[in-house]
Amino acid sequence: MINTIKNLDFEEIQEWAVAKSLKPFVGRQIFEWIFQKGVHSTAEMHNVPKSVKEIIDAEGPLLLLDLETHEISDDDSSEKFLFKCKDAYAIETVLLRSGNHYTLCVSSEIGCAMGCTFCKTGEMGLKRKLQAGEIVEQVLLARRISDKKINNIVFMGMGEPFNNYDEVVKAATIMNHAKGLNIGARHITISTSGVVPYIREFAHLPFQFKLAISLNSANDTKRSELMPINRRYPLEDLLSAAKYYTIVTNKLIFFEYVLLKGVNDTAKDAHELIEKLSSIPSKLNIIPYNEIDDRFKRPGEKDIQRFLSHLENVSFAVTLRYSGGRGIRAACGQLYHEVMDS
Ligand code: SF4
Repeated sequence: MINTIKNLDFEEIQEWAVAKSLKPFVGRQIFEWIFQKGVHSTAEMHNVPKSVKEIIDAEGPLLLLDLETHEISDDDSSEKFLFKCKDAYAIETVLLRSGNHYTLCVSSEIGCAMGCTFCKTGEMGLKRKLQAGEIVEQVLLARRISDKKINNIVFMGMGEPFNNYDEVVKAATIMNHAKGLNIGARHITISTSGVVPYIREFAHLPFQFKLAISLNSANDTKRSELMPINRRYPLEDLLSAAKYYTIVTNKLIFFEYVLLKGVNDTAKDAHELIEKLSSIPSKLNIIPYNEIDDRFKRPGEKDIQRFLSHLENVSFAVTLRYSGGRGIRAACGQLYHEVMDS
């Protein structure tokens, strides 16, 4: 655990200020410097007295990540950042462009414990969970380095966000806060492989964040093979929690479906999806798999279209989404990095 006031949200930083015998407004001022202006050190805080800067500096660093590499794809549609944490672990963050819109895919953990068989990050196992400050800093640094206005955030990088629920929710609220990064809550999507208790808890958050579930099969046997979490929370529990979320929030839920050749791309798979999803207000995103080794294959264009043809005229919206960043191994399921040499 790194000591830093960058892990504090708007309320906590005011409480911290009071605990240090400062006025709450000083806390608010510091919050703005860190998250709205994105400063890297107290030296940049022009209107903060030296005595207060010393108190802040004594709490630990304000810059938690160092840029190691920054790759840009040939077609300029994606950028991948490799950041080194203070303990020498590394995380990857991906910026995706669609027209004039930029979406940042942030990591929530170093590695991941969920072990999904099609995912490179899952091979690493879990090294540790990221702190809220480290999650938010990915956005601040990506914005500064790329000089792009980032409109959307998706928690779909390394890690299972609901395995690090409190820090992820805190990071999202800092991103959303008007005195923070001021990114609309509807432009922040948190994705889970299916940690059912937190789907139910998330439904009651007083924010408009979006929720995505990485589904990948509507068949229990198949899903358990692809995603071990399905043995703990099988489809019946998962989809009941998804439905609960839509009822409580009155919002759609997003299902992500990575299409794997010969695994989950048959007519039977499509029909099982229809049977399971028809009663849930939802959108289904079909994402053709990005090959990382020879365990799974990406379906050909004809197979993709055939699969989609089985999903015509269904009660939920279906979209085909090609995940960007393939050329720089920044696409869904391709993020992987172990320890950096210190
Ligand atoms: S797909 Fe997501 S939840 Fe599954 S192993 Fe990869 S990072 Fe973890």
